Amino acid sequence: MSGDDRVVVDGVSKRYGGEDAVQALDGVEFGVDDGEFVCVVGPSGCGKTTLFRIIGGLESATAGEVRLSGTPVTEPSPDLGIVFQEYHLFPWRRVRENVAFGLEQQDVGAEAREERVDAMLDLVGLGDAADSYPTALSGGMKQRVGIARALAVDPEILLMDEPFGSVDAQTRSMLHEELLSIWRETGKTVLFVTHDVDEAVTLADRIVVMGADPGHVREIVDVGLDRPRDRTDEAFAEQVAYVRGLISE
Ligand code: ADP
Ligand code: MG
Repeated sequence: MSGDDRVVVDGVSKRYGGEDAVQALDGVEFGVDDGEFVCVVGPSGCGKTTLFRIIGGLESATAGEVRLSGTPVTEPSPDLGIVFQEYHLFPWRRVRENVAFGLEQQDVGAEAREERVDAMLDLVGLGDAADSYPTALSGGMKQRVGIARALAVDPEILLMDEPFGSVDAQTRSMLHEELLSIWRETGKTVLFVTHDVDEAVTLADRIVVMGADPGHVREIVDVGLDRPRDRTDEAFAEQVAYVRGLISE
């Protein structure tokens, strides 16, 4: 791992205690460079969400640690914007107030806040929905709000856990393109968790392939395909087949 790694996952293990104790992760290790787009893939139950929660400072590791720009994670960090699969929007707040949430927490003044919220809503193409409530939005729109909210505080890293798992295939590929263009425009480091190999090969510079029982890193795959990527390309299909093969080994 090089010195300019933005995110370092250093030998992370996690055991959930209690009656049905589970070893969820065992010695997970990888680094993410500044500005890199890394996907973590693996079958259901291999510990992806557990790893995501540990990186996000929402859960502690049993052994090992995660460092963001060299600093160990002990609690949720403002360097990190989190996007969940289940949106986690506030239903009683309008779209613009949802996006403003992190800025309010940071005591950003009203004027600067409004400006930033407008810019973020433009970025995700939701300017027209600013005054709607979440219940009025489709899944794809809700997830755009989630992304705008995460980006509003200008975190160094965007951390996403199966963010497009609840939207239809067509919306998902639109969101892929939007996310990639946001990534290009902002230069953020993105760490994206998914069980969908196709999605990972569409998005990632590198793919951390995990196996289960307990969760561990199988292999780290350099995707090495030009962007924009063509899913009908033979090289694309080969990468997908290769990663699928690793998972089902
Ligand atoms: P994934 O996101 O890859 O599907 P998870 O991280 O959700 O995997 O789960 C990994 C393992 O840890 C599973 O066996 C799951 O049942 C267990 N697990 C996850 N969260 C908890 C928890 N809060 N308490 C106990 N076991 C858990
Ligand atoms: Mg999960």
